[in-house]
Amino acid sequence: MIIDGKQISQSLKDAMKIEVDALAEQYGRRPCLMVIIVGNNPASRSYVRGKIKATEYCGFDGHLVELPEDVSEATLLAEIDKLNNDPLVDGILVQLPLPKHISEDKVIAAISAEKDVDGFHPENVARLWLNQHCILPCTPKGIIELLDQAGVEIAGKKAVVIGRSNIVGKPVAKLLLDRNATVTIAHSRTQDLAAVCREADILVAAVGRAKMVTAEYVKPGAAVIDVGINRTEDGKLVGDVDYEAVLPVAGAITPVPGGVGPMTITMLMRNTIECFLNRMNNK
Ligand code: NDP
Repeated sequence: MIIDGKQISQSLKDAMKIEVDALAEQYGRRPCLMVIIVGNNPASRSYVRGKIKATEYCGFDGHLVELPEDVSEATLLAEIDKLNNDPLVDGILVQLPLPKHISEDKVIAAISAEKDVDGFHPENVARLWLNQHCILPCTPKGIIELLDQAGVEIAGKKAVVIGRSNIVGKPVAKLLLDRNATVTIAHSRTQDLAAVCREADILVAAVGRAKMVTAEYVKPGAAVIDVGINRTEDGKLVGDVDYEAVLPVAGAITPVPGGVGPMTITMLMRNTIECFLNRMNNK
């Protein structure tokens, strides 16, 4: 089974569009997401375009704030502070990566935790690990949603996550653990990675190396979630999984593009609605 993230995303966005119209009726305004981009990095520009398009599609308020590559850290922090204090702004996102002269840690911590739609603020990260109410990071949240929508059982299963970054690997592992999977986190020092992965009923690859997960990594019938985004020499977008080789072995698989990527943006929309509701209901 191919897990069609694009189609699942579309139906979730269609439902949110209706929900947002109802929220506007009920609360007298729409959820508002502000996206800040610094500089002209083409990949960042493309991601931001996708986010703004989804924002408009779902009927949110908000817009893009564009700052030049050489903007000072102080100016960016002042812009964030302005949005933190704006009662009509529900979500703030600063597109990463930032130019080297700006501290990403400082910027992430400067966004008010209640408006942190990316779920990167240290307070949200801590709350996730403490099982407290928090804003979940979008990619991990999207992966769980994809598994649920595809009807993949999580509880009691063995999951292997390759990658231990703070934005993907670790939070995905935590969310799978919370759903009662038995989770192994693999990384660049893992010995005999293929053997470790072959144990998995659910295999999540979040590495950033084209086609490193071959058929020998996959237990027959396993659900394979490919988070990786890589460009081949001829500019083609591919994941971490050798899709053609793994497709006949896997029970379910996400393609790249059209798998986890669209879900990440859709969960950003979900998080914006949740931030709006938390603020309106003063949770
Ligand atoms: P990082 O570079 O932060 O982390 C990569 C992880 O992969 C590290 O934990 C590293 O291990 C591990 N790794 C590297 N080489 C190997 C190897 N040979 N064997 C096993 N593990 C290895 O990346 P991110 O987590 O930020 O992103 C991972 C991928 O997901 C990227 O391609 C990124 O573009 C993509 N991505 C996609 C998103 C989407 O929406 N679809 C969103 C976010 C990211 P170690 O810790 O030991 O160094």
